[in-house]
Amino acid sequence: MSIQQEHYEKELYICAKCGYCVRECAVWKVNGYDTVTPRGKILLLKHFIEQKKELPPELIKNWYLCCTCGKCTEICPLEIDFPELVRTYRIQFAKNKKNIPKPFQKTTENIFSTGNPLGRSRDDRNDWRPDEINFKKDSNHLFYVGCMSSYWTMEVAELVARILNKIQYDFTVLENEPCCGYIEFWSGEINKAKELATNFAQIIKEAGITTIFTACPGCYSTLKYDYPKLNIKINAEVLHISDLFARLIDEGKLNFTTNLNCTITYHDPCHLGRFHGIFNTPRQIIKALPSVKFIEMDYNKENSNCCGGPLRTAFLDIAQKIGELRAKEANDTGADIVTTICPQCVISLRQSSHDFDYIVTDLIVLIAKALGIKEADDYL
Ligand code: SF4
Ligand code: SF4
Repeated sequence: MSIQQEHYEKELYICAKCGYCVRECAVWKVNGYDTVTPRGKILLLKHFIEQKKELPPELIKNWYLCCTCGKCTEICPLEIDFPELVRTYRIQFAKNKKNIPKPFQKTTENIFSTGNPLGRSRDDRNDWRPDEINFKKDSNHLFYVGCMSSYWTMEVAELVARILNKIQYDFTVLENEPCCGYIEFWSGEINKAKELATNFAQIIKEAGITTIFTACPGCYSTLKYDYPKLNIKINAEVLHISDLFARLIDEGKLNFTTNLNCTITYHDPCHLGRFHGIFNTPRQIIKALPSVKFIEMDYNKENSNCCGGPLRTAFLDIAQKIGELRAKEANDTGADIVTTICPQCVISLRQSSHDFDYIVTDLIVLIAKALGIKEADDYL
């Protein structure tokens, strides 16, 4: 993937109009309009480019009505990287501020006024930290919590720290943790994304960090894959926490002691699985949990369906319907627990599964429970 206008303009002309992407599109599945699908967006945009006319606002809006889940790319015979095409055109549209949907604009304002897309106070960012957690200030291993787990899925932040303390793995956190810029990278605000990335890289350099791990696929994807596209280098290994924990299991440093006695299914976060191929380590961890029966959903790994999470801020009705489809697929497995390893997916699946009896929880909570960390019970 690359943030390059010239290359992606060519992709518009590669599309064969075959329509294989239509039925796979997460948004089309709930609103049925061809204009929201890759084929529809591409055909309309090409038409206006060829007519040397501006795309009208209602059609520009369609380019924001995309989960960037990549399911369409998986099926496209010409392998058109549609999420990257969406990003490319959002960058073009963002040059005229009026084109950007208001919730996206508000998110940008929040990041630059409060340091997080949610608009929450900077003073509350460290509220997840219990007094008894030990951080090693001069450690080279950084747990980057991210905005979502700092404010929303705070149990993930707390339990990652408790797990690492329990196995005596030295780590530190940033006292004034900044936003990585994930949302700016995807909303087309590329100069603002660059500003955030430059600041982040400088902080990491000054702190002498050699390894960064995070439980958020968005942060992971941004730090590891998007920063280099803007020539911003972080001289540290970037890991998603599922890779770190799978590694620690292999090394015999993460030993589970508590039986969970449940049936679990797993939802693949799109920006972790389909984007970066991290399918196996979360499953490896689940299968290592004692007394767990693991059941795959019908649509899994590359073929997984989106939970609608990325649309919740700007297009809540559509996001909710997409989430309900995925929640139903989870229910069809008969599992007691639906897990994933992404704060956005946890929230989306929780909000979409009120009709079902299963528990939705982050895999971090299950790992903590299996390690005998009693605080995990508060989140199950
Ligand atoms: S599947 Fe690919 S080639 Fe076919 S219409 Fe969709 S984007 Fe175009
Ligand atoms: S990335 Fe997802 S939501 Fe966007 S067009 Fe492709 S399938 Fe549809």
